[in-house]
Amino acid sequence: MKRQDVKRVRLTDKMVLIGLGLAAVYWFLDTFIYIFMSYDVRFFHGFFGFKLSDIWTRIIVCCLFVIFGSHAQFTINTRKVIEEEIRKREQRYRTIIENTEDGYYEVDLDGKLHFFNNSISQISGYAKEELLEMDIRELLDEKSRRRVSDSFDHIQRTGATVKDAEWTLIRKNGEKRFVESSISVIKDAKGQPTGFKGFLRDVTKRRRAEALRQEKLAAEAASKSKSEFLANMSHEIRTPLNAIIGLVELLMGTPLNADQKEDLSVINSAAHSLLALINDILDFSKIEAGKLALDSVGFPIRSFIGESLRIMGSKAHEKNIELAFRVAPQVPEPVTGDPTRLRQILLNLVGNAIKFTETGEIIVNVELEEETDADVMLHFAVKDTGIGIPEDKHQSIFRTFEQADGSTSRRFGGTGLGLAVSSQLVSLMGGRIWVDSQPGQGSTFHFTARFTTSDTEECKDDSGAVVQLQGNRILVVDDNTSSQHILRELLTNWGMSVVTVSGSDEARKRLWEAKNRGAAFKLALIDTDMPDPDGIFLAQWTTAQEDLDVKLIMMLSSSSLASRPLLQDLGIRAFVHKPVSPPDLLTAIMIALDRISSPPDVPEKPSGELTLEASRPLHILVAEDTPFNQKFITRLLQRWGHTSVIAENGIQALKILDRESFDLILMDVQMPEVDGFEATRTIREREKQTGGHIPIIAMTAHAMKGDKERCIDAGMDDYVSKPISSEILQKAIQHLTSQDNRRDAVSHRETKAAESDDQAPSFDKEALLATFEHDWNFLQETVNMLLEDYPPMLEKIRKALQSGDAADLRRTAHALKGMVGNFQAKTAAQAAFKLEEMGRQKELSDAEQAYDALVNEMDRFKQSICKMLEEEKP
Ligand code: ADP
Repeated sequence: MKRQDVKRVRLTDKMVLIGLGLAAVYWFLDTFIYIFMSYDVRFFHGFFGFKLSDIWTRIIVCCLFVIFGSHAQFTINTRKVIEEEIRKREQRYRTIIENTEDGYYEVDLDGKLHFFNNSISQISGYAKEELLEMDIRELLDEKSRRRVSDSFDHIQRTGATVKDAEWTLIRKNGEKRFVESSISVIKDAKGQPTGFKGFLRDVTKRRRAEALRQEKLAAEAASKSKSEFLANMSHEIRTPLNAIIGLVELLMGTPLNADQKEDLSVINSAAHSLLALINDILDFSKIEAGKLALDSVGFPIRSFIGESLRIMGSKAHEKNIELAFRVAPQVPEPVTGDPTRLRQILLNLVGNAIKFTETGEIIVNVELEEETDADVMLHFAVKDTGIGIPEDKHQSIFRTFEQADGSTSRRFGGTGLGLAVSSQLVSLMGGRIWVDSQPGQGSTFHFTARFTTSDTEECKDDSGAVVQLQGNRILVVDDNTSSQHILRELLTNWGMSVVTVSGSDEARKRLWEAKNRGAAFKLALIDTDMPDPDGIFLAQWTTAQEDLDVKLIMMLSSSSLASRPLLQDLGIRAFVHKPVSPPDLLTAIMIALDRISSPPDVPEKPSGELTLEASRPLHILVAEDTPFNQKFITRLLQRWGHTSVIAENGIQALKILDRESFDLILMDVQMPEVDGFEATRTIREREKQTGGHIPIIAMTAHAMKGDKERCIDAGMDDYVSKPISSEILQKAIQHLTSQDNRRDAVSHRETKAAESDDQAPSFDKEALLATFEHDWNFLQETVNMLLEDYPPMLEKIRKALQSGDAADLRRTAHALKGMVGNFQAKTAAQAAFKLEEMGRQKELSDAEQAYDALVNEMDRFKQSICKMLEEEKP
């Protein structure tokens, strides 16, 4: 019903009818009085009156009655409408109050509840009946009660409103809740306060979350400052430790008695393990402190993994464990990311795998997990056949200082930090790390990492080479089934037709079979290290079968490296190192097929080692303020044949430069007075007038991202981070002075060549020194051992020849070949190999001659190595 309808007055309305009734009563009453007063009046006159004025008066009075009635009815209608409106509003208001999550209450001046909604009962835990007339203060704790009383007094006096008063409410079951309430005064019609009302909100959850957040923030801040402290501390420890290691190395190069040598080697190995631990701690704390930024450079993932694993190859092969890797064909090339950190993770996992595996194999597999336009998620898996890890340790080993079995640290060494660091690095790379393992059944460590991809980056395009391989038949000979699978997949992807066999005997059969069928193998990829008959035997047999016309590619491991010269003598030119990297294999195949020529025969570098050419003597200014760094660097430079002058700070460096000229400056960036950046800027400014450019290598304590750019911006040419690694410093010095070096090296080689006699040297000196990491003492000790061991072996060979024992001859000659191979004594190893082969073939007719040749070679080797040790040992 509309409001107007409600207000409109109708003739039938009560008050209108009353008005009409009263008008009628008046009319009749007046008529009767009139008739009664004047007796001779006709009813008509009595009823209507005599005069017009009488009639008017009656009509007006009657109208007045009707008007009053209608008006009264209108007033009643209007009031009803207003009352209805108020009722509806109140209803709405109550519905809101009842349904709101916040509590609403009204109390009288004594604080007694006389109106409240359901939420108050829910928040307090009391029933509605219990709450009615209860003092609201009874719901609160002591402190809040006092506050409420104060607020009531204040509000009553001033009429002010309180917002967000914080109270502690005790529920009926004793539970504590935190509430916030507003309070305002209720007044009566005269404006007198009659009570208080307010909304009450339960903020317990918010308060607890806030408290937790605060706690978390505090814990994070504490952990961050702890990590920063650790990062700084580890750095501070590394610096002197590096000086200790460097100086011990230098001392070990001086004449010492056996005890001193022993003590120094203990110090050396203890310092190295301390350094490894500190490096892990430094990495870990840097990551935790958020200070480790990842590099972003493009790199070819296949050859990168090959090179990285080559470092571990020798360790695995020493234990007779097969190490192989596979990168799925879908993995794009190149990828952009941080190769150094990726290598760190891989080496940690592969290093652990080698450590905890006694027999079997370690296979690294890389798959494409996910690909978008801009990036890829790669899945790496390192699978071993080692001791395995119980399920309850699968999580904890990724935490710091956790080892699956406490006794492993005693048995295998290790700190329990490697996996924790790897796990942090993996999460920085946007991936995760986990393990699948059962005790006794090996382990597979998995991790994922995200890399960006881009079409613009340069990458060696092998597609042309691969096209040339299409359809070629190749026989893969490897005793390890996983390696066979990996090689088969790779070669098949290159379009080759692949047959795999697991031993030399089967290979020989297959080669002839295929030839006779008219489907001869063009290539054979042979693992050198196989159980008897080994790859060398197969290579020899194959090269002897001219009709087969098969090209050989030999897979060498670090333990079979020494056989390379022997294989070369058989005319084999294609070699590939295990674990086999696809780009290397492709190159080796192309060499075998004569599509490209083989590189000049350079001595093999021991894996992971850096062999540096000696630099020409340089005069170097070292600006460095720390005394032990001064000493360490000076000694290093001395050892490399350079002279040096020390400057304590930038000012001194500039002064010294005024009076003396240098080939190079090693500049610490943090120095008192004038720092390295400023000193470099001044030097470069001066050079603008004087001309020239002196190479400056910065030495900085912060191995943080952006440092290199700052150094280069200041005018420095290169950068090494502290603590100084002798290898890196030497490389940097050589890099900056390489032009001159190359000239010097060439002339050095020419002079050497002129000096040499026409007989081939009995061993490759440079390769030998590189194998022994230029550790002359170690070399001396090992040579002594060899000189003691080889005469009885020669004697044994002689006896075997006399008695015609071919097996004994083969075994002893094989052992001697391995021994001298380690000393890069190519000719002696070849002589031993000849006898080994005679033993294998049971063909001893020319053995006497071969034996004499071996004795001669061994003598020649003994003389030249003793001469070298006498004359050149520092
Ligand atoms: P550690 O320096 O002790 O090797 P890590 O963090 O690298 O430290 O490894 C933690 C522990 O995890 C190891 O001590 C070992 O108990 C277990 N572990 C890691 N890798 C392997 C593996 N491949 N096989 C068996 N156990 C492993």
